This record gives sequence, structure tokens and C-alpha cells, in this order.
Amino acid sequence: MQRYIFFILFIILIFTIDCVQQEKESDKINVVVSIMPLAEFAEKVGRDKASVSVMVPPGASPHTYEPTPGQLVKLSKAKLYIKVGSPIEFELVWLDRILSANKDIFIIDASYGIEFMNVVYKHHHEQNEHYYIGDDPHIWLSPKNAKIMVENIYNGFVSIDPDNKEYYSENKRSYLRELDELDLEIEILLADKINRRFMVYHPSWAYFARDYNLEQIPIEKGGKEPTARSIQFLIEQARIQNIRVIFASPQFNTESAEVIAREIKGQVVLIDPLQKDYITNMKKIARVLSEVME
Ligand SMILES: [Zn+2]
Repeated sequence: MQRYIFFILFIILIFTIDCVQQEKESDKINVVVSIMPLAEFAEKVGRDKASVSVMVPPGASPHTYEPTPGQLVKLSKAKLYIKVGSPIEFELVWLDRILSANKDIFIIDASYGIEFMNVVYKHHHEQNEHYYIGDDPHIWLSPKNAKIMVENIYNGFVSIDPDNKEYYSENKRSYLRELDELDLEIEILLADKINRRFMVYHPSWAYFARDYNLEQIPIEKGGKEPTARSIQFLIEQARIQNIRVIFASPQFNTESAEVIAREIKGQVVLIDPLQKDYITNMKKIARVLSEVME
């Protein structure tokens, strides 16, 4: 009998803890974001008042990812959705569906105020190849753009929770300071490089290259794997430009990067454009670039 009572008490206890936890959870603003770096920015601004979840999980590409039914259900509880806002496939294809799952959700366009760079896309249509110019979606890989994105996220938090404006403002200021330091550190690391070109499989780095006066040579062009002929051309280019390292990212096939690296007796180095810990990751990438550039 005693055992039975203990068991009942135990169940009640578990149930109570669960309720308290749920209570605490619901105190926080449920925020959903498209990609990992946005999750970092949202957490830095929202801190203890935000519970952030991300749609495109680690290792997946926002150019191809499709959300799970579970993720769409989770959206019904979210108050805030932060989109990159640049034309990235995940948002182009899924955002309407995401928004129809929760009509009351407040949307922040993190790209508001950022000037997009051009990118050339290749398109096959009835055996013809068309090229067209679009906006480069990889805006977050410039710390200067990241600062604008953080400002936009801050404005979103203030709109839905104006009582805590001071709290968000203090968090934002301290993260913007860190982003300024990051920007300066990258600038210094790469300042004296003479050969400012780097070869990379997926061209995510145009904004980064612009900020630090570098030149990105992409292997994949217009979202398509390179042909044998263009690989040959890239090998020659790498030799002429004295390039020793080919960058690739974990979200993409590294095969053609390896082919080129083998031919120039260089190596493939992975850099990840979508790591959550933005500042650490960007510093790491800048250090890698500074080591391989002359
Ligand atoms: Zn990309």
C-alpha cells in the first residue's frame, strides 16, 4: 500500500514539474528562424526572453531543404519568424506555407536595408541555356551585413515586446560591439595579402570578399555542378593564380573540389557558411584564409 502511495506521489510530482516547465517555456517568446546564423543573432538579442528554433538544421542546405511536418506544427506556437529575406530557395518555396500555418506570426525581414549583390544563374529551358542575373542570397557572411540583420531583429523583438525594450537594446549593443571587433580582426588578418583570390566550390562568399577586398573564384556556377571542360579551365586558372587551397563546404559534394586540388597538388579545406556560432566561425574562416593566402 505504502509503495502504491509513493508511486502516486511520484506521478503527481512529475506532472507538476512538467507543468512548471511548460509555464516557464511559455513565458519566452517562441522564435523560428530559417538558418543557423539567424538563430545565433536572435539568441544574442532575445537572450533569456526568447526560445529560438531553426528550420534548416545543421548540415542541410537552405537551397534545397524541405521542412518536416513536425516543424510546420511547431510553427503554430511561434510568435516571431525571422527570415533571411534575400532570395534563398528555402524561403522562396516554403515561406508562404510556413505563414499559412500560423496567420498571427510576426515576420522580421533580416535583410531590410541591405543592398544585394548580383549573381549570375544558369537556366536550362528546352535545350537552351539561359543566363540571368539575380540577387546573391548569402548576405549573412558579411559582418557589416550581420550588424544590419541584428538591428532588424532587435526592431522585431521591440515591436512584439515593447516593455522589454531596454533589455533587448542592451543585448543588441553588446553584440554589435562584438561584430565590430570581428570585422576589424578579419580586416587586420587579411590586410597584407598580395594574392587576394580564393577558389571555392559553392559561391557563398561574395559579400565577404567585397568587404575585405578579396576575389572569390567559384567552382559551382549558377547552382550547377561544373562540366569536365570548366573543371579543366579552373585547374589552369588555379595554376596561373598560384592557388594552393580549394575551399568547400560540408553542405555540398566536394568531388570536383578534390579533382582540382589533386591536379594542382593542393588541398581541400572545408569552411562552413552556416555554423551557428557566427563570430567564432567567421574568425576561424578568416584565419584559414590568412594562412593559405600569400
Ligand atoms: Zn549558398
